[in-house]
Amino acid sequence: MGRKVQAIRGMNDILPGQSSVWQYLEKTVAQVVSSYGYQQIRFPIVEHTELFKRGVGETTDIVEKEMYTFDDRNGESLTLRPEGTASCVRAADQAGLLFNQTQRLWYVGPMFRYERPQKGRYRQFHQIGVESFGMSTPDIDAELIILTARLWKQLGLLEHVELQLNTIGVAAAREAFKAALVEYLTQYKDQLDEDSQRRLTTNPLRILDSKDEKTQQVLEQAPSLEDFIDDESQAHFERLQAILTANDVPFVINTKLVRGLDYYGKTVFEWVTTHLGAQATVCAGGRYDGLVEQLGGRATPAVGFAMGVERLVLLLETLDLIPDAAKDNTDVFVVSFGEAAEVQSFVVAEQLRNAEQGWQVLRHCGGGNFKNQMKKADKSGARFTLILGDTEVEQGIVQVKDMLNGEQTSCATTELAGYLSQQLNG
Ligand code: ATP
Ligand code: MG
Repeated sequence: MGRKVQAIRGMNDILPGQSSVWQYLEKTVAQVVSSYGYQQIRFPIVEHTELFKRGVGETTDIVEKEMYTFDDRNGESLTLRPEGTASCVRAADQAGLLFNQTQRLWYVGPMFRYERPQKGRYRQFHQIGVESFGMSTPDIDAELIILTARLWKQLGLLEHVELQLNTIGVAAAREAFKAALVEYLTQYKDQLDEDSQRRLTTNPLRILDSKDEKTQQVLEQAPSLEDFIDDESQAHFERLQAILTANDVPFVINTKLVRGLDYYGKTVFEWVTTHLGAQATVCAGGRYDGLVEQLGGRATPAVGFAMGVERLVLLLETLDLIPDAAKDNTDVFVVSFGEAAEVQSFVVAEQLRNAEQGWQVLRHCGGGNFKNQMKKADKSGARFTLILGDTEVEQGIVQVKDMLNGEQTSCATTELAGYLSQQLNG
């Protein structure tokens, strides 16, 4: 036997049993975003490297050290998408969807970042992204946040997540703040952690995000971003807060919240949880009014967010919030003995699938004696087992075994769907 090839580190298989949770989450999201008029967009997993360099920003962690970049056979530099926003802008603009109109879009799919794999952090992970274009007013920021709150409610997560909000102002405000921050921090350079020292020249805003205790101590006396926010951004932020408050969406203002991607301005937000350890953010986003133009399109205001699917699945599992109906359960297991009964068992199984699309009907394949087939029925977890032998075929009936209490009754084939519907659907 040859050596087995293993999966790439940090890239996970989603196995049967887990996939039903993913489907449940994806289905719930699809239903919620659709109820707000968002339409799905799909774009490739690979793009020209330049898209992310220009979109996400040269000095971000993502572009500096996390991208899967390679030359294709023409020597062109391509990158596995590390996030969806830049691709979404590229695709929507290329199709002429951004000119003189508004768009509400969403997508789901794998993203790739060369990070240190750990719980909630992987090299291939999945995001569900929601982006809106052509609207500059805070009502659309509010709509997106209210949409996420509805999703958490639907999933039973609302009480387990907290909304953190901030405004990082327009570019000029951030530049002024950056200058002041760098001037202040440079005096204490030796006390900063290594990453923060490097960021002093590349991406100083991200220093606010540092988890290092000493760095945080130095930051206590640092100039505050709040004092640099322009009036327009402040008014935008206040209106957003007013709409959220009026809609009973609680939030906390975190003046240190900055995002790791360069395109954000004005509103930024994160939904965080205390249940996942260090990988606490399950959903993050904000406004990015400059990105479309930066990528060569006409200036178009935009705001969006992305959720980490793995983290949400982990959270749902940790809190035991997956409804039974979402699990991959067998409802009816069908066993048969003898050739005529085998044929009839197909007829019966098809009849049930016709009657009720939601039922999972598992017909035993491969023959075997009574004991063996009943063992399989037990193992399947089915609520009911249908038993067919030649006598049942002759009489036009099936034996129905209730696997909960072991009781067995015979039922006319013609009445079977009605009987099971009564039992299973209540
Ligand atoms: P983090 O601070 O956790 O690294 P980020 O700021 O890099 O997150 P974004 O790029 O804004 O995150 O991505 C949005 C969401 O996607 C995150 O909040 C998280 O839920 C998820 N996410 C990001 N990177 C990973 C990863 N490597 N593995 C799993 N999920 C991820
Ligand atoms: Mg990250």
